[in-house]
Amino acid sequence: MTEIITTVRQVLERKGSVTHTVTPQTSVFDALSLMAKHDIGAVVVTDSRGLVGIFTERDYARKLVLKGLSSKDVTVGDMMTTPVTTVTSSEKVSQVMMIMTNRRFRHLPVVDDGHLAGIITIGDVVKTVIDEQEETIKQLASYISGDLTA
Ligand code: AMP
Repeated sequence: MTEIITTVRQVLERKGSVTHTVTPQTSVFDALSLMAKHDIGAVVVTDSRGLVGIFTERDYARKLVLKGLSSKDVTVGDMMTTPVTTVTSSEKVSQVMMIMTNRRFRHLPVVDDGHLAGIITIGDVVKTVIDEQEETIKQLASYISGDLTA
């Protein structure tokens, strides 16, 4: 597999570092409303200790809907996944791809020196791969056209 050399930091510089957080006490209904409002598929769960979990649409579908529970009666703390796998900004997108593929999830919070610096998603990864490939094609095309006119 070709290495994707763009770093997580570069991805966050492009998309921004806003991360939507809730607490373990937030109801699943309120978390879903926040996710709908911002058109996102996951929220990071924090408390006074810092990052304590992650809650995604898949948790809602599998841990709540399939069990016939009501989103207003259940808190995020009961449905979140913990511990959370994270990456640092200096990691390359190749590494992010490997983690997401091996662990079968689509969200990775970015933590630098204990601070939440953003979240990288499978959509960001796909966009980065496409951008890098387009750049390679452009470089090859200009190399070939330069070569032909030389
Ligand atoms: P996703 O594909 O991101 O919707 O997540 C699939 C499952 O993995 C859900 O149960 C999530 O709570 C869990 N999950 C997602 N991201 C992470 C992560 N970074 N660390 C640990 N679990 C995660």
